[in-house]
Amino acid sequence: MADKITTLPLIPLRGMVIFPEMIIHFDVGRSKSIAALEEAMLKEQKIFLSAQKDIETEEPIKEDISLIGTICNIKQILRLPGNTIRVLVEGEIRGKIEKYTKEEPYYEVDIKELEDEDIEDKKTEALMRNVKKTFEEYVKLSEAIPTEALMSLEDIENIGKLTDIIISYLPLKQNKKQELLETYELNQRLQKLLYLLNNELEIVRVEKKIGTKVKKNIDKGQKEYYLREQLKVIQEELGEDDELNKEIKSYKNKISKAKLPKEVKEKALYELKKLGRSGNYSAESSVISNYLDWILELPWNKKTSDNIDIKKAREILDKEHYGLDEVKDRIIEYLAVKKVSNSIKGPILCLVGPPGVGKTSIARSVSHAVNRNFVRMSLGGVRDEAEIRGHRKTYIGAIPGRIIYGMKKAKSKNPLFLLDEIDKMSNDFKGDPADALLEVLDDEQNNTFRDHYLELDFDLSQVLFLTTANRLDTIPRPLLDRMEIIEVSGYTSEEKFHIAKDHLIPKILGEHNVSSKDITFSEGAIYSIIDGYTRESGVRELERKISAVIRKSITEMLKKDKKLINITVNSVTKYLGTEIFTYDEIDKRDKVGVVTGLAWTGYGGDTLPIEVSVMEGSGKLELTGQLGDVMVESAKAAYSYVRANASSYGIDSKFYKNKDMHIHVPEGAVPKDGPSAGVTITTAIVSSLSGKKVKHNVAMTGEITLTGIVLPIGGLKEKSLAAYRMGIDTIIIPKKNEKDIKKIPKTVKNKIKFILADKIDVVLKNALIGDVKNGNKKS
Ligand code: ADP
Repeated sequence: MADKITTLPLIPLRGMVIFPEMIIHFDVGRSKSIAALEEAMLKEQKIFLSAQKDIETEEPIKEDISLIGTICNIKQILRLPGNTIRVLVEGEIRGKIEKYTKEEPYYEVDIKELEDEDIEDKKTEALMRNVKKTFEEYVKLSEAIPTEALMSLEDIENIGKLTDIIISYLPLKQNKKQELLETYELNQRLQKLLYLLNNELEIVRVEKKIGTKVKKNIDKGQKEYYLREQLKVIQEELGEDDELNKEIKSYKNKISKAKLPKEVKEKALYELKKLGRSGNYSAESSVISNYLDWILELPWNKKTSDNIDIKKAREILDKEHYGLDEVKDRIIEYLAVKKVSNSIKGPILCLVGPPGVGKTSIARSVSHAVNRNFVRMSLGGVRDEAEIRGHRKTYIGAIPGRIIYGMKKAKSKNPLFLLDEIDKMSNDFKGDPADALLEVLDDEQNNTFRDHYLELDFDLSQVLFLTTANRLDTIPRPLLDRMEIIEVSGYTSEEKFHIAKDHLIPKILGEHNVSSKDITFSEGAIYSIIDGYTRESGVRELERKISAVIRKSITEMLKKDKKLINITVNSVTKYLGTEIFTYDEIDKRDKVGVVTGLAWTGYGGDTLPIEVSVMEGSGKLELTGQLGDVMVESAKAAYSYVRANASSYGIDSKFYKNKDMHIHVPEGAVPKDGPSAGVTITTAIVSSLSGKKVKHNVAMTGEITLTGIVLPIGGLKEKSLAAYRMGIDTIIIPKKNEKDIKKIPKTVKNKIKFILADKIDVVLKNALIGDVKNGNKKS
């Protein structure tokens, strides 16, 4: 038979030898050993344990480690104070080191497995019986080994196994044990064992003799009394027994009262039994009580009663949030469908929009509207499947995953569970969290969701899941397919004004225990905070600024002993300093080669100036400003388009040979990508090559093809809000986006003129000053 070779991390053992079949724990502290252990946990949880020859050696080299050791399965690991790990292992088979394959950061070895031979001859049989008999005698005499040990031997037929188990009970010196481990020839092992056993037996006999003599000298009653007293003191000192018993009793009580499902109850009682055996203060007992606490705190059967009254739900949503009519309509429709079908199955709602537009808070309102408990769990930065599904109990400091954690917080099995930022999950080598999440959201499977830590099925089928995201393009496709998207877009200044006045200010005053009669805001003050101190799609910064103003005015009230304060534009300047943003931020001059584009990111819309500069040279094209791949391609397409059509714009058609061009998108720290800057770049290139100025009050967005067709873009509403905030009055947009104009708030439409362009010529005609076609001749 070919030798079986396994490659495993190695830990050198100090002062102990582990045999196959042996279950034992030991502590690991040396960093190399910890590294080996961690590596083993990542793989199949097997490790090679071999005794170091001298117990004193702090950092054993290869020569210090015995060649023969045992391949072990790691059963449990636990972190103890002081960077030590307690490991519980079970010996599997002898092994011999063939080769060291790695020495840093831990030892890794190729091991030949040493299987016990299967011999059936009379000599072996005789030896075996002899060993068994001697061991029986030894157990009866020694008192150090429980007689149950004998029973456990009865069923074992394999001779190798039997010898190893007997060896593990004997109080042999380490070198003797190692010798037995290294004797893998069975007959020899039996002979050596028999010799050692007889030796041990002799020793106990002598010990007994001495013992009986001493005993005779002490009065029996006196001795017992003495021992009992001593035992009491020891137990009291350790707080043992009593405390463990109390703990077990209290768990038993809790388990019987907890109305757990059958399977869960059985598991809990099973663990409780283990707790009884584990002994107080053992590492295992703390793992078990932790686990029992988790089981007892989860809402296996607790439910709140649902109440989907559509009319009332709408009232609650309206009361708690200003505007967002479309969002509320969609949510109410969703709830109505659930109510009629009397089930919460179906797609999961996903609220998508920039930060601070109220996605989380509207989800909370929905929980009020349907009378469910609310839990929120952010998935931002989750990379590992185990964060969703938990770590197995064998891992150091293992806890359940975020879903079960959330359910514990929810305190009912039918909460509204908000999964925030699902676009910010990523994956690494430890598995894709999106897969685990898919199972969580799948109503066909989620009634038996299994967390690695719990090792029990948990029913998630009655949870109402909602999700939020800043953007759609980073949500994994299979997840996206399970969801119904509701867009929540940014607010205009007027909308922000109402949100501030009716919601944010009363809420913040309430938090400070101040009546809204004592501190009042003038209309101008609110607008000045919105326009002068914040520039955002949502209202998060606005909330912070209002909070700052309120805190400062409370301080002033106290200092100056005022009863009432009215906050005006002047007091805002006093509290917040001079305005950070001025309304007319766009440059009021028309320039050559500078065009205002419109961008849309996870944070909302923004203006994006694009600059092109042309100089004498040899046809080099330079692109700067942290542009993403798609944007670079779009710039190249724009360049080619202008080159192919140069003559029709009155541009020197040799520019690609005798001019260098530099395209730059300022604010280099902000990464930019996407194709929607195509028309902006084209306009800037034509302007810089033809020398025509660009109108300063115009902004634009649109993708361009090599033939000059303008293609539609996303995020029109956010983009136009951004233009509106910057004081721009004309936006050129792709004709195919015409349908989106109706979603844009009236206040914006009243101020901004939208020009629809199907071809780039329409863009150029409206953006450049002067006649574009053959412009050079006329100018
Ligand atoms: P998001 O989850 O979209 O990032 P939040 O829900 O955290 O935003 O909202 C930020 C703050 O703004 C919260 O205090 C929220 O109550 C408030 N808010 C946002 N939109 C509205 C609105 N339309 N009406 C009332 N308050 C709002």
